[in-house]
Amino acid sequence: MTVLPYNRTNPPLDPPAQCRNRLMWQVSRRLFGDHQPGPDGWCQVCRPYQYYPCVGRQLADIGMEAAHLVPDGSPWRLINVSPRNQRR
Ligand SMILES: [Zn+2]
Repeated sequence: MTVLPYNRTNPPLDPPAQCRNRLMWQVSRRLFGDHQPGPDGWCQVCRPYQYYPCVGRQLADIGMEAAHLVPDGSPWRLINVSPRNQRR
C-alpha cells in the first residue's frame, strides 16, 4: 500500500502540499464528504442500496490517491517545466 500524506479516514478539505492534481483532490474529497456511514452502517446517500463503504466512498479513496500520483499516459498528468524552458 502506498504511504500517502494524509489520513485516509479524515482527509483535509484543502489538497495536501504533495498533491499533484488539485481538481482531482477537490472532487474526490467532496465525494468522500457526501458518502459517510450512518449509525446503522449504511451509506447515508446510497441507503438502502449499498452498505458502507459504498462505491462512492471507494471512488473517493481512489481519486484522492490518484491526485498524488502521476501515472504515465494519464490525461491529468502534469508536465513539470524547468524555469529555463518556460516561455516568457
Ligand atoms: Zn454512498
